[in-house]
Amino acid sequence: RTPSNENGVESLPKIPHFSHTPAPYNGPLASDLSKRRKQYLPTIVGTYYTHPLNLVEGKMQYVYDENGRRYLDAFGGIATVLCGHCHPDVVEAIVNQTRLLQHTTVLYLNHAVVDFAEALAAKMPGELKVVFFTNSGTEANELALMMARLYTGYHDVISIRNGYHGNATSTMGTTAQFFHKFNVVQTGIHHVLNPDPYRGVFGLDGAKYANDVQDIINYGTCGHVAGFVAEAIQGVGGVIELAPGYLPAVYSIIKKAGGLFIADEVQSGFGRTGSHFWGFEAHGIIPDIVTMAKGIGNGAPIGAVVTTREIAKVLKYAYYFSTFGGNPVCTAAGLAVLNVIEKDELQQNAHVVGSYLKDRLNSLKEKHEIIGDVRGRGMLLGVELVKDRKLKIPAKDENLHILEQMKDMGVLVGKGGFYGNVLRITPPLCFTKEDADFLVEVMDYTMSKM
Ligand code: PLP
Repeated sequence: RTPSNENGVESLPKIPHFSHTPAPYNGPLASDLSKRRKQYLPTIVGTYYTHPLNLVEGKMQYVYDENGRRYLDAFGGIATVLCGHCHPDVVEAIVNQTRLLQHTTVLYLNHAVVDFAEALAAKMPGELKVVFFTNSGTEANELALMMARLYTGYHDVISIRNGYHGNATSTMGTTAQFFHKFNVVQTGIHHVLNPDPYRGVFGLDGAKYANDVQDIINYGTCGHVAGFVAEAIQGVGGVIELAPGYLPAVYSIIKKAGGLFIADEVQSGFGRTGSHFWGFEAHGIIPDIVTMAKGIGNGAPIGAVVTTREIAKVLKYAYYFSTFGGNPVCTAAGLAVLNVIEKDELQQNAHVVGSYLKDRLNSLKEKHEIIGDVRGRGMLLGVELVKDRKLKIPAKDENLHILEQMKDMGVLVGKGGFYGNVLRITPPLCFTKEDADFLVEVMDYTMSKM
């Protein structure tokens, strides 16, 4: 089951030996599923690939299709599989908890919920010690925005134009890159310039972009705001590292305007950036509220909001309850994830292998004109493709082609960016150097054939 295609990919290195044989699959096939999906699920986002993959099994950094063909999952689910697909410790925690008690709510006591909250709080700096569980990143950010509004008594919220924070009402509002075109956005949400070192007007000058936040406060609000929300590295927006100095400068502007600083760690948290456990730590700030989801349950649906005891008090006077938020099965998974990160030294691995992979991608950039930019940290990396390096014309179709070709050769990567021209590389943190080599060889081969 070594990846191969009819174009003679034998010259590529083999994926290192991995002793897993997928179970025989006798379920419905991709052609049938595609047809039925179109019939019954027509409104959801389209599938990747001309012939969508029917993935039936996952093992660590690999997934398997209906024919038992193996793919190196360099997208990591969708940046959700932190420890590796079906990591045995996480599976065991989920199975054990499911056997014991599948569901109860926060109206009762349960150790799985309290244990994970305590372990999460221990990972947080400063006074960030109070945890609320949700089912997703969207809900975590909705709750964070509501808390900021209740706590400050102000309504206006600021987000970065290219950020992604979710798809309920307030979070759609803060996600300018997608949802404004649908005209569903709330009032009281303002979007500031993207501090994008590659495409932004001020290049690497974070302080200049931060002036836009002050301008928005001066011209668009009463002078006070409820808060500011940002990712430390924009994920869906195309893996964009914010210009240096931006977040600390914004932090003090927001504080002066009476607002709270909300760090959206849905993609950048839990050691993915390698150098730090939380993305915001690289910027030397301590947020008032931190939100997280995606990898924290290794694929189990769970999100969380962590804040200070003082801010959390506002929820005494507002109703917040989630039937499934903080259910024991997902919190047991969360606790197992934290333990695996520690035991398997996944953050260190993300740092070492991620840096190695980034170096190798930068070498590819020397070779292929189509690569305009390589960026990110640890195992949150992006490769932006352009038709012309000087004009930076987004190479969207080429991006799709590469995505498709890489899949044919056994490597899955994601796509993103405002123009859809960024390859997103967010593998499970157990990704090895050999995996990184294989990914680069496949990308190199694909680009050479264009
Ligand atoms: N915040 C960030 C940074 C995200 O990347 C996402 C999802 O991609 C969300 C929030 C929303 O999370 P969910 O899809 O779990 O609602």
